[in-house]
Amino acid sequence: MTAITASYRERCLENLNAASFDLIIIGGGITGAGIAWDASLKGIKVLLLEQSDFASGTSSKSTKLIHGGLRYLKQFQFQQVFEVGRERAIVHSIARFLVRPEKMLLPIYSGGSLSRISAYLALWLYDFLAGVKPADAFRFLGPIESSLKEPLLPKKGLLGAFLYSEYQTDDYRLTWALLQSAIEKGAICLPYCQVMNLLREKGKHLSGLTFRDTLTGKVHQVNSSAIVNAAGPWVPDILVMDAYPAKKHLLLSKGTHIVVPHHYLPLKQAIYFDDFSKSRMLFAIPRWETTYIGTTDIVYAEPIHLLGSSKEEVDYILLAVNAFFSITGLQSKDIISSWVGLRPLVYEVGKLSTDISRKDEIMVSPSGLLTIAGGKLTGFRKMAEKSLKVLVNLQKGKKPFQGNKTKTHRVPLAGNSFETAQDLENYVLSCQESFRVLQINPALAERYVRRYGDRLNQILDDLDWSLQPEDALLSAEIRYGIHREMVLFPTDFIQRQTGMVWYEKNRCLEKKNLIFDVFTKEMQWDEKTRQKQEALWAAFLPTVTSFHNNEINDTGLSA
Ligand code: FAD
Repeated sequence: MTAITASYRERCLENLNAASFDLIIIGGGITGAGIAWDASLKGIKVLLLEQSDFASGTSSKSTKLIHGGLRYLKQFQFQQVFEVGRERAIVHSIARFLVRPEKMLLPIYSGGSLSRISAYLALWLYDFLAGVKPADAFRFLGPIESSLKEPLLPKKGLLGAFLYSEYQTDDYRLTWALLQSAIEKGAICLPYCQVMNLLREKGKHLSGLTFRDTLTGKVHQVNSSAIVNAAGPWVPDILVMDAYPAKKHLLLSKGTHIVVPHHYLPLKQAIYFDDFSKSRMLFAIPRWETTYIGTTDIVYAEPIHLLGSSKEEVDYILLAVNAFFSITGLQSKDIISSWVGLRPLVYEVGKLSTDISRKDEIMVSPSGLLTIAGGKLTGFRKMAEKSLKVLVNLQKGKKPFQGNKTKTHRVPLAGNSFETAQDLENYVLSCQESFRVLQINPALAERYVRRYGDRLNQILDDLDWSLQPEDALLSAEIRYGIHREMVLFPTDFIQRQTGMVWYEKNRCLEKKNLIFDVFTKEMQWDEKTRQKQEALWAAFLPTVTSFHNNEINDTGLSA
């Protein structure tokens, strides 16, 4: 098993120049990570290159649901709902600590977009296609039971609500768990390495590529005749390097979510609700001490580096929440953070972005470049399986691509030693007990198990007793990130590793000095490097909070 240590990235890069691989994957989002995982399980020698931090593209900006997409039934995408719906249970079983069953409430109102009968039929079909077990099947609650389930539902016109099964996840952590599993099987996966050029043998078939280490500027060349373009919204940039015009085009659709403190929208329950126009639906999902709400769906044609949530989107979400829920109006100053992502949709002439299929598509160009785009977070396993099937055909005769099929539906991801829900619950209980003994709030235990699975033991074994208990936990968590997860910067820690910037913004600001102290010590930064990182942190924070007018005072805490 390959150990991921602080020097892993540097060691790999030192030995990489002119190295040959069976397969090179461009993009460290869920699609690339899924392919790297599946391929490494088959014994294929894999290199995955990510231009920024892992999952920093769309794969950390989703609604964080492992779902079949109820609304795709409206577009008659039965195959899509069938395939992705079935995946939910599989992804849950291989990543039990990361994929949590979550009931969703779908309220029905007189004059709403869904009648009771149409919602009943859609949910029946949804459960049927997804193979939901009878015990988890949807059920209808009358108006009183619905109000008890969620007291914030407005009572006027309420006919009742359907309660149906979905799963919640942490998209960043799921992507990382796949990469970690791939690395432990021998894959090399490197963040901050941007692919610059594709190389071709005799001007035709792919023979390798060049990439730039974005931290040092050094350019490397690596060789392979099998290259996968899993660059999400950047897929067209790689196709330009390939110099073969794509037959199909990508349409980027932008989706924003906002996060508010839970007490501002104190939902007991995740809800899928109508917006004020009754033509779109949004999710409102409680998570720890927050509730997040989204999403929008707007065609995006600007350069990707300019992406941000617009005031119009934020106003739209606030208006939808205020029009629907029985609360005193939410305002933009109540928002603590937001995220915005781009859906890379495979373009179909004449369709609105909301009507375009979320189905994944594989394209193979004459150079042999395999491009995979579209799809869902939920479908990563199937997308990997399909990509590898195509690669087997493309690489005919080449040894590593032949041989046994991997049964990825039975292979647990790194950190998941929990065969049953009871195993997971027992582990959470034992961690709660450890937290109690360590004088750390035991309510935090489940949050940590949901992040690290059974690897949490490694963090708890490394506590620094000279610190206050919760600081000791935080500093051990940072060390774990640096030494075991290739977390290189404080901004990666508050995003990819912990999500603190979105769900615990004040804690993340309060603990800024501690975070920087640990990074400075572990990464052996000099004062100049620390100052540079502090400046990057200061520049980054407003990008997830800048849409509202909250004053930021000297400490960085919102007033
Ligand atoms: P990305 O995650 O964008 O990964 C591509 C990676 O390639 C990026 O990290 C990028 O930095 C890297 N890259 C680009 N160019 C280069 C280069 N030259 N060199 C090296 N690396 C490069 N799906 C669900 O199943 N459930 C949901 O609840 C859900 N909600 C969603 C909500 C929104 C608002 C959006 C936008 C999408 C949602 N999806 C959901 C869809 C899902 O998030 C995406 O399908 C999925 O994350 C796409 O992953 P990807 O790996 O293809 O792309």
